[in-house]
Amino acid sequence: MRQELQELSAELKNAAPFYSPRYIGHMNSDLLLPGVIAEFMTMMYNPNNVAAEAGPATVPRELEVGWQLARMFGYNTDPEKGTTAWGHLTSGGTIANYEGIWNFREVKFYPIALAEAAGVMGIDFEAVGPEQRKLSEYSKWALVNFSIADTVDLLASVKRQISASGMKPKEVKQFKGIIDRETLVGLGAADFFGKHREIKPPKVIVPITAHYSWDKSLKVLGLGLNNLVLVKTDKKMCLRIDHFEELIDTFENEQIPVLGAVGVLGSTEFSTIDPIDEMLEIREDAYDRGFYFGLHIDAAWGGYMCSLFRREETNQFCEREEVHEDLSYFPSQEIYDAFKAVADSDSITVDPHKLGYLPYPCGAFVARNMGVIDFISQKASYLYDIKDDRSHKSQVEKLINLGQFILEGSKPGAAAAAAYVTHRVVPLNKHHFGRLVKVTIKQCEYFYKKITTLANELDKKVLIKIPFFPETNIICFAVNVKGNDKLALMNFFGRRVFERLKINRFEPLQMKEFVGSYTSLVHGKIDDELAHEVLCDLEIDTQTFVSDVTDSQSQADHIFLFRHSLMSPWLLHRWENKNYIDRYIDYLKELIEAELLKLSKAKPMQQKKKGTSPAESE
Ligand SMILES: *Cc1c(COP(=O)(O)O)cnc(C)c1O
Repeated sequence: MRQELQELSAELKNAAPFYSPRYIGHMNSDLLLPGVIAEFMTMMYNPNNVAAEAGPATVPRELEVGWQLARMFGYNTDPEKGTTAWGHLTSGGTIANYEGIWNFREVKFYPIALAEAAGVMGIDFEAVGPEQRKLSEYSKWALVNFSIADTVDLLASVKRQISASGMKPKEVKQFKGIIDRETLVGLGAADFFGKHREIKPPKVIVPITAHYSWDKSLKVLGLGLNNLVLVKTDKKMCLRIDHFEELIDTFENEQIPVLGAVGVLGSTEFSTIDPIDEMLEIREDAYDRGFYFGLHIDAAWGGYMCSLFRREETNQFCEREEVHEDLSYFPSQEIYDAFKAVADSDSITVDPHKLGYLPYPCGAFVARNMGVIDFISQKASYLYDIKDDRSHKSQVEKLINLGQFILEGSKPGAAAAAAYVTHRVVPLNKHHFGRLVKVTIKQCEYFYKKITTLANELDKKVLIKIPFFPETNIICFAVNVKGNDKLALMNFFGRRVFERLKINRFEPLQMKEFVGSYTSLVHGKIDDELAHEVLCDLEIDTQTFVSDVTDSQSQADHIFLFRHSLMSPWLLHRWENKNYIDRYIDYLKELIEAELLKLSKAKPMQQKKKGTSPAESE
């Protein structure tokens, strides 16, 4: 054991040094102590949060974490004040995104199953749905356009009417069995859509910048990758609202249901913020016309930024000026409006193991309407408890058997303990957790200033350009050699410089001055105007940006960007009289100059032959 552990320990020392302020690569950083300690402490007891029986201390804490996050987003958690939210932890943003789609699906197609079962039983229900009519009077198209709240209310009303009708327990059981069979998951997609031919399989709408877990979610849920619809982005790498609206209009006209639309709050590559407020407006207008879709926010990265917008005592949403204090740019009016609208979404993905500074695995799914749990429960609780006891207390009691309502089964209670203790010690408002978030944004503003200064300083030799303004805490930039107008060479040069910022198995980690990350703007996946502007800025011939590359040497189907997540909160701290960002900028200058020297010594530029372009490992 000693030998194995020593080997492991030795190899672990070569892992990416996330804790270091010289790590400015991916969404990783040093962790918050309350979380680390709580995690260690709890791990020894090994609780399993699949059910309270296996995690009596940690399951209630996990539910509480759900409410802590819900409050940060502005969802209601007070049962006295109406619809309450709920949330739970997942292994990460990926699973939380799957749950978003899964929840939407089970709710959306429930009314059809119910109407079908009622038909078989020869019964009907009075005054249900958005128009308060008989269930049998709704068309199938109307039934798939009930909102989440409509469907939750529908179920409550059905339960009340059944219990008032004096239906026998045996009949209730039969009715329930038919509903179960007639749901989309009961029949399976092929039979369900085969039976209801007027209803086409639904679409899911996400921006191009969406994380690849959205592709996976449609694959896993069997909804067809073909039904994932991508919205174009604008020059700021945010969802283009005109294109979004156009898509919604098209699907409405063609009577194709939309399961959900996703807005990204802090995209993985660029930390850009989609116009959530405008998406919601379009959703509300569509609903008024009888066309409904859920709105999910993928805030895996940016979710914790919401803490910066919440006041301590009242949990009220702050004025823009309050948030702006101590900062130079953040938040623009657009961004402020987007954050404000988060409270009106239907569900949210957030990753405590990203900007929550907690250990892996810790993602979270938060839904605005706790009523959705009745549609996803393994024990199909709808109609079981006919008494319609939807009191907050009884709902919470149900949730104790967490495994019934989530995709995962056994799961770490330690992660729940870590999140809970952290949120208690560093509460999710602007005076506590928000300060941490603010530092990351401040660092980004500082970085922006400094990289601009460096660009001016080196403008005779290289062009350093920031393709779009870094609105939050991730910054990207491109570097081109002055006088070069070919994209392939620019990318080649960028990669050569980046080589020194990359973790490489063959070189001791301790030799690295800094660790960065990179990304690309891929041909056909970005706004044409943006591509044109970026390339012109970099003095690149736009003709050299191509959709296809014939060989791996002519890497010109993308624009290579240096990318830095400025998540470590220590970057403005000084080490030997110079802060880490200044140090990095100086180092970058050195790297660029060294690479320029090599380039000038090399024979003609075209001679970049085999092996010179680094193999991608990400
Ligand atoms: C990281 C991320 C995900 C995936 O989360 P995991 O925790 O890696 O599963 C999804 N969406 C966005 C926007 C992300 O940044």
